[in-house]
Amino acid sequence: MGISESSIHNYLPKKNIFLFLIFILLSLTVASSIVLANENRVIVKASVLNVRMGPGLSYDVMTQVNEDQRLNVLDEENQWYKVRISDDEIGWVASWLVENDEISTENQRYGKVTGTEVNIRQYAGTDSQIMGTVYENTELSILYEEQDWYQILYMGKVAWISKQFVELIDAPASQASSAETSTQSVTIGEATTNIRTGPSTENEVITTASPGQQLIYLDTEKEWYKVQLEDGRTGYVADWVSSLTNVETVNVEETTEAISRAATNLSEATIMIDAGHGGKDPGAVSETGFYEKDVALSTAKLLQKRLQDAGANVMMTRSDDTFISLNDRVYLTSKASADAFISLHYDAMEIENSMSGTTTYYYADSELNLAETINRYLKDNGPLSNNGVRYGNYYVLRNNPTPSILLELGYLNNDLDISMVNTQSYQTTVVEAIYQGLREYYSSAQ
Ligand SMILES: [Zn+2]
Repeated sequence: MGISESSIHNYLPKKNIFLFLIFILLSLTVASSIVLANENRVIVKASVLNVRMGPGLSYDVMTQVNEDQRLNVLDEENQWYKVRISDDEIGWVASWLVENDEISTENQRYGKVTGTEVNIRQYAGTDSQIMGTVYENTELSILYEEQDWYQILYMGKVAWISKQFVELIDAPASQASSAETSTQSVTIGEATTNIRTGPSTENEVITTASPGQQLIYLDTEKEWYKVQLEDGRTGYVADWVSSLTNVETVNVEETTEAISRAATNLSEATIMIDAGHGGKDPGAVSETGFYEKDVALSTAKLLQKRLQDAGANVMMTRSDDTFISLNDRVYLTSKASADAFISLHYDAMEIENSMSGTTTYYYADSELNLAETINRYLKDNGPLSNNGVRYGNYYVLRNNPTPSILLELGYLNNDLDISMVNTQSYQTTVVEAIYQGLREYYSSAQ
């Protein structure tokens, strides 16, 4: 493959890859038999998952586990699982970042790719999305068979390949070639990065990749990695903004810095979203006839979806037009052991058009950082003007043991605000700002 050692930073020696592939294959076989015997086993869904000293984001990280690792569950508390990491290590992981192990096979089977370039798809069908390409002689672990398709493990994910391009083999033979094409990936560093048509900044940009994104590694040319994109195209990314890792063998000690960034994040957090008012309490009412309670709820639902897409554990004080007392909102939050409480409101002033825009309220000094981080995104990206971060003596903040903020996202008796706040585009924009703020808050915490 023309790999020059000097141009690679995190390259694992071939021998390690060889040994590790054997380990992967063995663990797949072993796991399949354990799955049937042990129901309390879960599989890690996040690319890297923190194992903490206790059941919550506030506990220290003791170690980390990688995607597809299987863990024995001993106990459950606050939606966190107590798991056995090794014989003498017990810690806690967020239950929503693992799943019950459903991948099981009676007998592990292997195949070898016979086509020159064969598409790997998300589902068994040619109309399904292409997840990548494999090349002739690549060896695959076959998980399942359905009509003309094999289900395989590809880049740590379940995927499908057409049977007509695969020949069944007894056991994998040339681990190295298989390892090079299917188990190494390039992980994008801290910033959004250009993917180019060739190995130089003079080549055209085809697309960008986000921080932490993993791309399939194909080759190294000069100081550039040739990678395969999710849509099957190939491109080049500079090695100084990315790192080459073996997908299954990220060494925790060697890459602690990178892993910490990936793992101390929003996805471990439990967020309670509080749509203000509801039921008999409409909140502010606009002249044009819509209620604060409805705008707050639709914004809350968009935020719920956005945070869930980011992997967070999201709860709502209400998800329909129901009256919930302020006390119940606080009670629900503390019962859920939430990591943050975000209350969404739209405002009104006694005098029409006297105020416009968004405001972020906090009560305790310890909440100022959360308030300021989210408000910065609202100010920079929000379509309306921003009134800054303010102290607010609100019941749901004052009586809440959880870090809490209250957002006023526009005035229902301001002509400009009314024209915007009840639109999906406005709400999507502020939701994105809240999400970005939370993401930054959790990635910079600790
Ligand atoms: Zn309100």
